[in-house]
Amino acid sequence: MRKNFYLYAEKQTLAKWSIDDAERLYSVKRWGGGYFEVGPNGNLHVTPDPSNTEMRIDIQDVIDEIKEEGIQFPVVVRFHDILRSQVAQLNKAFRHNIQESGFQGKYMGVYPVKVNQMREVVEEIVEAGEEYNYGLEAGSKAELLAVLAYNVNEDSLTILNGYKDEEFMRLALLGRKLGRKIIVVVEKFSELISLVKIAKELKIDPMIGLRSKMTVKGRGKWESSGGDRAKFGLTIAEIINAARYLQENDMIHCLNLLHFHIGSQLTDIRSVKEAVAEGAQIYAEMYRMGFKLDYIDVGGGLGIDYDGSQSTSESSRNYTMQEYVADVVYGIKEVCDLEKVPHPNLVSESGRAITAHHSCVITQIVGEIKANNAEFDTSPEDDEHVLVRNMRELISALAEGGSLQEVFNDASQYKEQALSAFKLRVVSLNELAKIETLYWQIMSELHERMADEDFIPEEMQELDYALSSQYLCNFSVFQSAADTWAIDQVLPVIPLQRMNERPTVNVSLVDITCDSDGKIDQFVCESGISDVIPMHKLKKNQDYFIGMFLTGAYQDVMGDMHNLFGRLNEVHIYSYDDDPQDFYIEEIVKGSSVNDVLSIMQYHPPTMAQQVKRLIDKKVSKGEIKPREGVKWTDFYENCLDGYTYLK
Ligand SMILES: *Cc1c(COP(=O)(O)O)cnc(C)c1O
Repeated sequence: MRKNFYLYAEKQTLAKWSIDDAERLYSVKRWGGGYFEVGPNGNLHVTPDPSNTEMRIDIQDVIDEIKEEGIQFPVVVRFHDILRSQVAQLNKAFRHNIQESGFQGKYMGVYPVKVNQMREVVEEIVEAGEEYNYGLEAGSKAELLAVLAYNVNEDSLTILNGYKDEEFMRLALLGRKLGRKIIVVVEKFSELISLVKIAKELKIDPMIGLRSKMTVKGRGKWESSGGDRAKFGLTIAEIINAARYLQENDMIHCLNLLHFHIGSQLTDIRSVKEAVAEGAQIYAEMYRMGFKLDYIDVGGGLGIDYDGSQSTSESSRNYTMQEYVADVVYGIKEVCDLEKVPHPNLVSESGRAITAHHSCVITQIVGEIKANNAEFDTSPEDDEHVLVRNMRELISALAEGGSLQEVFNDASQYKEQALSAFKLRVVSLNELAKIETLYWQIMSELHERMADEDFIPEEMQELDYALSSQYLCNFSVFQSAADTWAIDQVLPVIPLQRMNERPTVNVSLVDITCDSDGKIDQFVCESGISDVIPMHKLKKNQDYFIGMFLTGAYQDVMGDMHNLFGRLNEVHIYSYDDDPQDFYIEEIVKGSSVNDVLSIMQYHPPTMAQQVKRLIDKKVSKGEIKPREGVKWTDFYENCLDGYTYLK
């Protein structure tokens, strides 16, 4: 899977650099879902509404406005139009396939709020989905409380998954009282018993779904969501028992829905087809046993092509949204027609596919950590060790046209020998420093010479990483891209400007936490994954901004406060035709202050400020700090408490 982009940055034989090269390198269109592209001026351009390509936002204009508003980076930028567009695309795809195939049921999708619970996100989705009766899904009591208040369309569904206690059931029945189509999906048999008991006690008819533990497993990182050892769901025997239990309790009319969910980010369309076929078969057999269900809920799993490869790699998928929807509709239709049972209504719970594209994190590079380029005097000395001389001679050998491979091999050998010799106290510390310095000079030279070779031996390809720089980014991986750390999720990261210039340094990224895991070294490059990405040389007094994309699903809400870096400032962007820049910032949501994050950890910032003031006062009274200076330090400490947790 891993591709090597050896020396892409230095290749001199390439013709003049153009934005097409940038497009190919950063694969923007391939992962961009129609929303992002490299603009003619080298800046990233956003088309938040693909049905109106006239409307184009230059990300530089967004950055300028953020600066003008005095908002500090890093910033989460949300494009609300992208959310709306994704909701419309999914619903239109279902409508289209339903109509085209003569399917008798309707599509009644829901958005699972766990994927991004931000109120503004949920509100936008509900509003955009109103004309399609698009509903919400909740997986916990807190989410249910939110969903009860926000899913106000009585014609849409509310689906409840996850483990439930009695209070959860009562809340669901409150929803029924309020006239909502709220379906409790039973994950384990005991939940059914408790739901029936409470429904009888309150004399409210619930709507009930049964989640099937499928035999089909999804492929991808989340494949354990299906199969015999799945955490959730009923076996076939339990499904039949559940239906009989409802029958015995005169509540069979409350059984509405068959649910399955075989995992998120399904990479292979075959697992979708298999799950749909299995689910439809269970539905059909249940129907023939006299248990007439109204809905089949195919769960989530509709994937995102994070790396733009359109493959079954973990960060991709080998199908499109259109294909996924067609396979669900036609797959269920086929089974139902064969089994001569009515078509059910269809529910899906796509979260990732709805939200991933709409938000990104924008931040600036605040420094560069160069690899192995220390300056050190390596001039010859009379009594120096032979290894130093040998290494120096390799430099002349290179200059005189020696074989690159041979020089590489010899240099590597001398360096190894030097280390052993140092341990045996045969080579001095000073000599070792010379040998290492010469070694890296040779490697840099080799690296440059290799740029134009067609074939590069594997060992030498690794030089690419060894010689690359690290760009220090003003953000925390743990807050803004938790999955890149936790599960090696690949997210596209690209420069936001100068893409019309040839990038000339290969870099990986490190964040500002003091954790060595706080780094990104998997990049989307030419539709593959690379451990370095070509970017541009930093210029003095000129900001260099990068964007991390597809962070709208899960990443936005899963981050933690490692090192007490808190939530990010956010700007919410709406596109607007009449604006010269085609957008306006509708809302600014302030990120966490230092006060906020400390309070969460049970500190009491006012007391801390008092304590520090007391310490300063003591020094003032001893005459060690001047009174005026003391006041300044006190104010400074308090201002920092009110400030943003990231670098200024
Ligand atoms: C997480 C989850 C989803 C959302 O899955 P996506 O892959 O993000 O679409 C849907 N349904 C259930 C039951 C889930 O647990």
